Amino acid sequence: MARKRFGQHFLHEQGVIERILSMLAPKAADALVEIGPGQGALTQPLLDRVDRLSVIEIDRDLAADLRAQAVEEPRLEVIEGDALRIDYAEIATRRGAPLRLVGNLPYNISSPLLFALLGSAAPITDMHFMLQKEVVDRMTATPGSRDYGRLTVSVAARARAESLFDVGPGAFTPPPRVMSSVVRVTPRAPDFEIHDGKMFDRLVTAAFSQRRKTLRNAVRSFLSAEAIEACDIDPTLRPERLAAAEFARLANAASAAVDTD
Ligand code: SAM
Repeated sequence: MARKRFGQHFLHEQGVIERILSMLAPKAADALVEIGPGQGALTQPLLDRVDRLSVIEIDRDLAADLRAQAVEEPRLEVIEGDALRIDYAEIATRRGAPLRLVGNLPYNISSPLLFALLGSAAPITDMHFMLQKEVVDRMTATPGSRDYGRLTVSVAARARAESLFDVGPGAFTPPPRVMSSVVRVTPRAPDFEIHDGKMFDRLVTAAFSQRRKTLRNAVRSFLSAEAIEACDIDPTLRPERLAAAEFARLANAASAAVDTD
């Protein structure tokens, strides 16, 4: 029985499993970690390709089944726990390499997990996650498009995100109500500077909190229209027209203004 509170939708379509594997292209020595292995749809195919696999599962019964499997297959490490509370840096140290993360994630934790991982001190090479398509569309949107917003800018400041392919509800048991997409997220320092990450996040949140406002009105508690112009940005634009680098210029000006107060 699938447990709704853990967002359980088990993948059964072989073609989708193969596409995930081909996009992931695991190498034997990769320090691979699967989040939310469930009944193991991806787990065995992953184990067939890597020397060792760590899996993190919150559901006690599913974790017990996986541990039973690990008795026969000592290359499988089962961590029973909440993926939001795991010390990924410790796993990377133990595995002796930066982590590669993969998982068909429970959709209710996908954004907090993504930001916990992007903000963590753990070395992470990349992540391949099945998420709600709507979330992937927002992560990978271009400025000015309908889906462009806080999530897009927050991810762009920390990582490169690529939408790989879409998956329909029929690939899962039970089928979710929404379309899914597989996304590749590669953490990287942005090619622009952010002096104060907290200020950046606050300013971006304010900018997108009321979509129909102009930039000047949306960020008026941070910067005056003149200060926005001094960043070479038109204060009458709508925030959804601005690239992440422009938000960084505004946030840097706002934190400099706070410092000189
Ligand atoms: N990977 C399996 C598949 O593709 O068939 C299961 C995917 S299912 C969408 C999500 C899995 O994540 C479930 O097994 C669920 O129990 C587990 N899960 C839910 N919340 C979790 C959490 N906070 N930490 C770790 N695992 C979690």
